[in-house]
Amino acid sequence: MITSRAFAGRRYAVLGLARSGLATVAALVASGAGVTAWDDREDARDDAMALGADIGNPLEIDLIGFAGVVVSPGVPLNRHPIAAHAREAHVPVIGDVELFAEAQGELPPHKVVGITGTNGKSTVTALIHHMLESAGMASLMGGNIGLPILSRDPLPEGGVYVLELSSYQIDLSHSLACDVAVLTNLSPDHLDRYDGFAGYAASKARLFSLQHQDQVAIVAVDDDPSKMIAGRINHRLHRVSGKDIDPVDQARWPALQGPHNAQNAVCAIAVCRVLGLNDEAIERGLATFRSLPHRMELVGEARGARWYNDSKATNAASAAPALAAFPPAPDQRLHWIAGGQAKGDGLTACRPWFGHVKQAYLIGEAMESFSAEIGDAIAVQRSGDMATAVAQAAAAVRPGDVVLLSPACASFDQFKDYEQRGDTFRALVQALGA
Ligand code: ADP
Repeated sequence: MITSRAFAGRRYAVLGLARSGLATVAALVASGAGVTAWDDREDARDDAMALGADIGNPLEIDLIGFAGVVVSPGVPLNRHPIAAHAREAHVPVIGDVELFAEAQGELPPHKVVGITGTNGKSTVTALIHHMLESAGMASLMGGNIGLPILSRDPLPEGGVYVLELSSYQIDLSHSLACDVAVLTNLSPDHLDRYDGFAGYAASKARLFSLQHQDQVAIVAVDDDPSKMIAGRINHRLHRVSGKDIDPVDQARWPALQGPHNAQNAVCAIAVCRVLGLNDEAIERGLATFRSLPHRMELVGEARGARWYNDSKATNAASAAPALAAFPPAPDQRLHWIAGGQAKGDGLTACRPWFGHVKQAYLIGEAMESFSAEIGDAIAVQRSGDMATAVAQAAAAVRPGDVVLLSPACASFDQFKDYEQRGDTFRALVQALGA
């Protein structure tokens, strides 16, 4: 566990007691801090109490004198009353990544890499971590990915903390100065939680404003908003582009296919160069990387077709490269399962690749709006739900075809989360048999 003397004798409120909330309670208590914890679920409150927290709803108590209110990135700060309540008491609202940043001074000398962007964050984070480990360096992943950062044991001297940072986590950080900070790309997403695209972009750009002069920014400048952010960076900056990757090289990296993965690879390579890896170590890492579940994950072959689970594609910008990855060929037709809870950006980003799709199978709340948007551009089945979509695709495929679940939507209308959606798809495909 990561603890710090800096927290001792202070009092924190922790709101939201899922995994990272409970890890925060444990780390603060072990550091000698007082903790007032709350979650609407009683069993979560019991867990926090067992860890040594007092129980109380931070919305209902006077927060004056508290050192911080720690919230989970899932709390929408633009709407949730905790933001105003904390502001009145002049108490900062922070996340567990901020506590990590405040604890850094007491950790053995190390480096921190922070990765943000609309898409590709997890892939780039996991890829950098893998490349460092395969080069024999101590590394761990945290932030939006893996185990809560505060629950991890500190790395030995020379270790690298690789943090996946959503815009919410950046909003909840004030002292996080990444030795290397990465922006993969930027397109409209999460607009329900920001004051328009400008607000969302500003949140991402803050990752660079928090850096010190001698730290390094890496920005993939393949889209205009990212270019604009790069243009405003005044410290060390490497501009990179997916186009810098030679397709001959990329062909050697099985889990990094498609134009979006060229962009992910170029970001990871730039980070590893800054951290001192040589070309040979970099190539070895790229070649041995395995894709994460729910991201263009080949889940099986059934009815002669290959079935890919890309459930993590929760917006049109992330579904687009998946469609791009399967150009039509006489013996390879693409069947696309899409839909769910629409995010408001429609299918615009996917439109250039509609020509790749033989048939679309639409599910969830977005079924009608997607169907209207697609019009005559693709043959559409109104499948409604995942089981129907898989059954209809199974009946339609020919040997050599590809079936791709890349929803371009959130999952919450029919599933708990994108993982459950992907797992459901995988189970349905496996039930089809070979
Ligand atoms: P994040 O953690 O930012 O959500 P992931 O690496 O988990 O990103 O990928 C999420 C989805 O976005 C996947 O469906 C993947 O195919 C797609 N994707 C990955 N990298 C990129 C990229 N650089 N540009 C656009 N889409 C991407």
